[in-house]
Amino acid sequence: MFMSGICLQSDISPLSFIGYCSCFLNDSDDTIELAAGLNFIYEVQLSKVLTIEKWNMPIKMKVEGNPSKEDINILNHIIKDFNKVNGFPDMGIVNEDENVLLIYVPKADLSKVQKEYNLGEIDKGICQSFSENGEIQRAIIVIESDVDQDYKNSVVLHEIFHMIGFYGHSYDNASVLNQIEKPVPKLSTIDTLAFRMLYNPEIMVGMNYHELNIYYQDKEITNFCA
Ligand SMILES: [Zn+2]
Repeated sequence: MFMSGICLQSDISPLSFIGYCSCFLNDSDDTIELAAGLNFIYEVQLSKVLTIEKWNMPIKMKVEGNPSKEDINILNHIIKDFNKVNGFPDMGIVNEDENVLLIYVPKADLSKVQKEYNLGEIDKGICQSFSENGEIQRAIIVIESDVDQDYKNSVVLHEIFHMIGFYGHSYDNASVLNQIEKPVPKLSTIDTLAFRMLYNPEIMVGMNYHELNIYYQDKEITNFCA
């Protein structure tokens, strides 16, 4: 079992747009190399759990609480874009038999929900994921609902990126998982690269950093930018 949590605080100006790069080659920084993706995977996953963890089963997300219409919109965008990644198991919204519960909760009710689900302190958002033998089995995400919509959009993306196996935070300020708590509206080039490298079907749960390194040594970056 693995848990991850805590996120984004407030003092930053709201974001003006939301969008996701599913093909980062279009606006590519062509100096980027696979090593940057490897570093990111190490930083936000393997430094914590030692061997590769990811979802292998379909991700069935149930939404509860008081999401706004825009919340559902954004969620659908995220799902659509994540589902484009080769090897990523199908993610969708369900009404029952969920393995991910996503709850939008007003600030006044956060402590109640925190106790009910035995979560850590919630500041704007939290994600706790549970895995077995490297396979992520289920997760719970709580989002504070009564904050600025643009800000909330970046928190949801941040928490869902935790949910798919990127448990930690990054020193890269462009990452949606940056640790200076800056809201980022879309996956960065390196976020996207690491996402594709982790969910590459040839990368198996249980592989360690050394094995990952060897695997990617003779690979071309263009194969991970489809
Ligand atoms: Zn976080």
